[in-house]
Amino acid sequence: MGLACAVRLQLAGQDCLLIDPMRDGTAASWGNAGHVAIEQVSPLASWSTLRSLPRRWFGRGGPVDVPRPFAVAPWLWGFLRACATERHKAGQHALRGFLGEAVPAWRQLLQDIGQPELLREDGHVVLWETSDGERRGRAAWLGGDIGDARAAPIDEEALGRLQARLAVPIRAGLRFEGSAQVSDPVMLLHALRKALLDAGGRCLRAEVDGLRREGDLAHIRLDNGRCVEADRLVIAAGPGSQRLMADIGEHAPLIEERGYHLQWRDHDWPDVSPVVFEDRSVILTRFEGGLRLAGFVEFVPPGQPPDIRKWQRLRAHAVALGLPVRGEPTAWCGARPTLPDYLPAIGRSRTVSNVSYAFGHQHLGLTLAAATATRVLDLYADPACPSGSSPFDLQRFSR
Ligand SMILES: Cc1cc2nc3c(=O)[nH]c(=O)nc-3n(C[C@H](O)[C@H](O)[C@H](O)COP(=O)(O)OP(=O)(O)OC[C@H]3O[C@@H](n4cnc5c(N)ncnc54)[C@H](O)[C@@H]3O)c2cc1C
Repeated sequence: MGLACAVRLQLAGQDCLLIDPMRDGTAASWGNAGHVAIEQVSPLASWSTLRSLPRRWFGRGGPVDVPRPFAVAPWLWGFLRACATERHKAGQHALRGFLGEAVPAWRQLLQDIGQPELLREDGHVVLWETSDGERRGRAAWLGGDIGDARAAPIDEEALGRLQARLAVPIRAGLRFEGSAQVSDPVMLLHALRKALLDAGGRCLRAEVDGLRREGDLAHIRLDNGRCVEADRLVIAAGPGSQRLMADIGEHAPLIEERGYHLQWRDHDWPDVSPVVFEDRSVILTRFEGGLRLAGFVEFVPPGQPPDIRKWQRLRAHAVALGLPVRGEPTAWCGARPTLPDYLPAIGRSRTVSNVSYAFGHQHLGLTLAAATATRVLDLYADPACPSGSSPFDLQRFSR
């Protein structure tokens, strides 16, 4: 998010300094499934998510795990409140519009940095192995709101091609159009970083220790004790944003929603768009750097070690599916930055005049990074324009 914003602002003539410890590989932006998911217009804070929880529970073979609910109780309370029908409807309306900007914004940003091939506009596929999964999936995707995406039953030939590589019988599936993937998240991040430098921007490898308020301005204090003065700041630190926003008196109730992946360098999976195995709640994406199987929704307080059972479960899915992979996969775990209503936070601080923010994109951060960068540029273009009326403004948590 920070990189996309920095590149967009730099290309528009701002002089940008990106501050990040650059522990490459650790943040969610490195480990995600690469799916530009414009079909996911319904915020996950909903009654339908709540109803599905019993069958989606980790202990029953599903993806959702809340090992210490009391430790995350305030966030869970906010989540429950956001499930209220009217709030969910309003969120869906806002998210649908925003997701409609996602692919054009990526197209434009990658075009502007001379790397259009990093976006692959080939849609994605959802497959079901069980009749229950098929019934529920069809109702949700064909009967529900999927924004600007289109879905239709996958044709026999395409299904046959996938089936030939799998060890489990596939009952049926859908082919989505309008969605996309990035050819590799690692290549994307390197390309954005290079584009920022090429355009005259700068990168500083450091951690922001905190923000210091002076009058109605915020200043940056680095972990090495140095201070950085800037006319304007954009806070886009993923799960780390909560602490920085608190320094300037802004309430951002973020949680770390962890996910896991395994990635094999050596494989014979065909060059097809991402495949969601919906009964298993996993997504398989072929990247330039290997074949990645990703999943899980785990709510834990910060600083907990990864739960190796999740990698074991991913491996069991890979074996059961008969994925054509060889050798040991690399195992990754990382946190999505998630707000209780499953909407992002994009806006301008009310407590200081030089801070904007862009974080909390939960499962949709890769999808929405370029579109968010455009919105942040809009905030810059009109400093007088208040962001308080936007559905993504943080004020919604103070009302
Ligand atoms: C398993 C998994 C699969 C996913 N799949 C998809 C997908 O297919 N499609 C999709 O759209 N989204 C997906 N996501 C979600 C997506 O990856 C995230 O929403 C997105 O990466 C968040 O980006 P971000 O830049 O806000 O946060 P991050 O990627 O966490 O980056 C935050 C950055 O801020 C820096 N930072 C933090 N604190 C400080 C500080 N104090 N000072 C300086 N720098 C700091 C960090 O070093 C880091 O570089 C997935 C997530 C997971 C876990």
